[in-house]
Amino acid sequence: MKAKVYWFDARAPPSYVEKGQRLFEEAGLAECFNKGDSVAIKAHCGDWNNTGYLRPNIVAGIVEMVKEYGGEPFVCDTTTLYWRTRITEQDLLKTAARNGYTEATLGCPFIVADGDIGLNDVKVDVDGNFFRSTYIARSIANADAMIALSHFKGHGMGSFGGAIKNLGIGCCSKRGKVVTHLMLHPTLGLGSWEFHPEKCVGKECPVYQRCTEDCPVDAFWLTEEKPYAHRDLEKCMGCIDCGMRRGCGVLVRPLGHEQIYPAAFADSARAVLNVLGEEHVGFINYAIDISPECDCAGHSDNWILPNLGIFASKDMVAIDKACLDMVDESPAVPNSRPFDEGKPGEPWMAGHEKFTNIHAVVISQWSQINAAVRVGCGSLDYELVEASPAPSLRFMMPKFRNHYPGYWDRRKFRLQSLRPDPSCYREPRMTVEELIKKP
Ligand code: SF4
Ligand code: SF4
Repeated sequence: MKAKVYWFDARAPPSYVEKGQRLFEEAGLAECFNKGDSVAIKAHCGDWNNTGYLRPNIVAGIVEMVKEYGGEPFVCDTTTLYWRTRITEQDLLKTAARNGYTEATLGCPFIVADGDIGLNDVKVDVDGNFFRSTYIARSIANADAMIALSHFKGHGMGSFGGAIKNLGIGCCSKRGKVVTHLMLHPTLGLGSWEFHPEKCVGKECPVYQRCTEDCPVDAFWLTEEKPYAHRDLEKCMGCIDCGMRRGCGVLVRPLGHEQIYPAAFADSARAVLNVLGEEHVGFINYAIDISPECDCAGHSDNWILPNLGIFASKDMVAIDKACLDMVDESPAVPNSRPFDEGKPGEPWMAGHEKFTNIHAVVISQWSQINAAVRVGCGSLDYELVEASPAPSLRFMMPKFRNHYPGYWDRRKFRLQSLRPDPSCYREPRMTVEELIKKP
């Protein structure tokens, strides 16, 4: 049987908030939990200065739905592996609050699911393509169910980011992210990368300070004299940070590894299904504000595609495949990344792969999908079901579902009239012709 993917196009009305709520019902996501269950709503609160992440009111709309169906929701995200603005619980909470993710805006607690420094986790077995177990954030593993809200967009390491990435990276603790990024894998990890310290230019490098300060266990460091760069793999804990600065040629990843890293997301995504139970996880993908990079970046760039709409499903592979298919059918937005000089594969054209060819290196957008199918995360075979418009008052603010707003305030405006003093107005001093002519 084909997996069902429910879809609402991007045009208004209704709003994206309401479309997500409507799809929650159409896709039967309330069946993922029972009354009184604790329901994790996994969302990405965006990095410091990022502007592409899901707006808090979109998430709040799903919080309302979970409450309406009797669940006990909490919204959560996890600490990052690399050293930026969401590295610890405190830093993540500060970033989330600056981006508008607070209990006051979401309507339920916002928590860091892997705790203080990202080690609050549960080891979960998985029969994966690249590993046998990983570490899932404890608050997610302990929940009774989860609704994964994913902003569908590009991703510098995964090619794209959607439901598979939201589970495979977003639900892992910091330690789980070391596993998923394969950094300490015996044959694919940092130990397999070529090391060329002679290529380091020392203090002439614009990110010299970062290379000097960022390794928290002094396993990568610079000295005053040539060769400047040094590393000690015995001490390395696989935080990926030095591996992200490979443009200088000091660290060279073996050819082909860029296709393997996104595939490994699927192993951890499967581990999340293992620990929660497949029937307890639902997915909503928002293919809007489609940036070339992840919301983990401290910027968002021009959107590469027009908004394509909202998708919902109980099948993690089907929902990402449906998004990718629609992405590929669409032409790119002018002056966005696919149009940058030298991009192979003509990614700006309708009918061409959009994410494979827009990153620093070619990363197949199918790698995550193929790996996820192999580990049993879902199906490629899907049916796209277009959502029907909701009754007009169904998703209004609860107070206004039975009576329109004016009904509630009639007494106040009988006591105090809106009518301004007649002397406020004057006869018009400008004609319509004067107003509409180009200056
Ligand atoms: S290792 Fe590379 S990135 Fe780091 S300081 Fe040297 S040249 Fe710059
Ligand atoms: S050497 Fe290891 S611990 Fe240090 S920055 Fe590189 S990956 Fe991280």
